[in-house]
Amino acid sequence: MEKKDLEKLGFQSLCCHAGQHADPQTGAHNTPIYQTSTFAFENVKDGAAKFAGEKEGYIYTRLANPTQNALEEKMAALEKAEAAIATASGMAAISAAVMAVVFAGDHILALDCLYGGTHVLMEETLPKYGIEVTFADLSNLDNVDKYLQDNTKLVYLESPANPSLSLVDIEAISKKAHAAGAKVIVDNTFMTPYLQKPLLLGADMVVHSATKYIGGHGDTVAGIIVGTQAMMDQIRGTTLKDFGGIISPFNAWLLLRGLKTLPIRVEKHAKNAMEVAQFLEEHEKVDKVYYPGLKSHSQYDLAVKQATGFGSMISCELKGGVDAGEKMMNNVQLATLAVSLGDVDTLIQHPASMTNSQVPREERIESGITDGLIRISIGIEDVEDIIDDLGYALSKI
Ligand SMILES: *Cc1c(COP(=O)(O)O)cnc(C)c1O
Repeated sequence: MEKKDLEKLGFQSLCCHAGQHADPQTGAHNTPIYQTSTFAFENVKDGAAKFAGEKEGYIYTRLANPTQNALEEKMAALEKAEAAIATASGMAAISAAVMAVVFAGDHILALDCLYGGTHVLMEETLPKYGIEVTFADLSNLDNVDKYLQDNTKLVYLESPANPSLSLVDIEAISKKAHAAGAKVIVDNTFMTPYLQKPLLLGADMVVHSATKYIGGHGDTVAGIIVGTQAMMDQIRGTTLKDFGGIISPFNAWLLLRGLKTLPIRVEKHAKNAMEVAQFLEEHEKVDKVYYPGLKSHSQYDLAVKQATGFGSMISCELKGGVDAGEKMMNNVQLATLAVSLGDVDTLIQHPASMTNSQVPREERIESGITDGLIRISIGIEDVEDIIDDLGYALSKI
């Protein structure tokens, strides 16, 4: 039977079909969970050839596993990448990708507003290994020229950034970085490949916290890296193998399952988010709303240019600052007061005291994360119920 040419398939079809091959032993239609640590060799010669890379085949699950590989093939197809690597968490993906391209004596130019864990990795951990990091507001392209150095090997971006929802021009920054001999990594967690494909905009690698929209159901922690085959081979042979942050077969299977409905989920998330953003923007107790889909967002045009949708992360400032925020968050009934995002249910949290609490206050405020900022991950519930819940919580201020 001829197999369908994946190149010709649309995004939703790829979500269903890419990486999925009937199990050669049983014909199982869905990829089985190959819950095994090791793989038997036929004989010593077979084992030796597989170790030497002369023969294809599985050796040990830290190196490769069929369930992981199915997920990697699907993610590569969705991001329009040559190859992908699945990891134990988003941070495992980020650290494996970054540490494969930056070494002692090198410099990283990083966006000033980043996921809290990434910020701490760059600010505290990497400098201990002799890696220099500069944080800058890269929504201003002049800052890219200003802070690129002779030893800059990496420009690290998020767009939209977590939790300020500010954007950077991935294409323009990639051109400048490449001209200076630096690679570009984009954390695409907020957008997913359904809404934004950074590799097509010029980035060299994309990383994800697959814990979020890729898994989509709030039931697993995982990460993804995508890029060229050569880059992925390099990571697989060094930082993935050495630090060992691989994904478990079971978690890979959960992501395979989640990805099948990614476009349907993301569409509903985003439709709900637009209505909630408009509701919040008109609410008397809300001072500012940050959502790239609102015309009032200062980078609305860039959002339209670089992505095919606006996602479902909203941040807002309440009139009355931290105290008002605390009252509101303590009074939600449908939404859950919890970190993480991209879950089918609505989650609400306070970055200054939670996800970004490790970033020094002055630096945090400078990058747009004020004390009163609230971040909401809009779920796929009936939008009236989300709005009723937020409206009720706001009325308690
Ligand atoms: C959650 C998150 C991470 C970290 O991912 P983990 O899966 O928690 O390790 C990185 N980047 C962004 C944008 C995130 O939201």
